[in-house]
This record gives sequence, structure tokens and C-alpha cells, in this order.
Amino acid sequence: MKNDYVCPFCKGHLKVKNSVILSARKPSGERGLLLLSPEIGDYTVRKHRSFNLLDGERTDLYCPICHANLMAQNYNDNLARLIRIDEFGEESDILISEIVGERCTYVIHGKKVEKYGDDATNYFGAGTEF
Ligand SMILES: [Zn+2]
Repeated sequence: MKNDYVCPFCKGHLKVKNSVILSARKPSGERGLLLLSPEIGDYTVRKHRSFNLLDGERTDLYCPICHANLMAQNYNDNLARLIRIDEFGEESDILISEIVGERCTYVIHGKKVEKYGDDATNYFGAGTEF
């Protein structure tokens, strides 16, 4: 699938080649780049070996282009929001966890939420509509 991912604030393209690139800040203030898979449900994270992430740690995620904080405040402070543009040009909100090791992704279509990942029930209950 030829999906693109853009920043909700500057609409800059976050997907380069086969990675979605985000800037992250650990609670310690240390910053680094994360390369995420554009495939929903693939939780592979690539990063420099010097940037250590600890399971359960909450990282702030930022747009690497405009540096906006991507926190999805309208949904949950532990989630970050990106916009996915599918091959037909249709946009969906994508929510990902900012908690290291937490495997959940949400695709928002209007009032419906599609949930993915082992930890998907952490934020939205069964059949959530809002
Ligand atoms: Zn941006």
C-alpha cells in the first residue's frame, strides 16, 4: 500500500523511503530520531544505538520538520497523532502510543476507531464510538 504520513501541523511528509521519521524526547530530556514502520501493527523501531529507550518510559514525540509536539490531547496524553494519506488521497488520523514498548495503534474514521496491537484495549474500550 502506498500510504503517506504527514504532520498534523505543518503537513510536512514524515515518511521517507520505508520509514516514518519522528523526533523523540525522553523524560531525561535526551533527544533522538525514531524510524517507525509505515505498516500498521509493525512495531519495529529503528534508532541510533546511543539512544536507549526503556520499556514503560513515556517519550514525547515531535515532528522533525516543524518541531510541533504531536501529543493527541483530544484523545489521550499518552498518544501521538499523525495523519495518514492513503492511495486514494483520503486522510485518517493515526494514533500511536508514546509509551515505549506499548503496542497499540488506532485509525480514526469519523466516529469509528479501528484498533491494532496487543495493547489496543489500553485506551479505547470495545467498539468505541465518540
Ligand atoms: Zn510538522
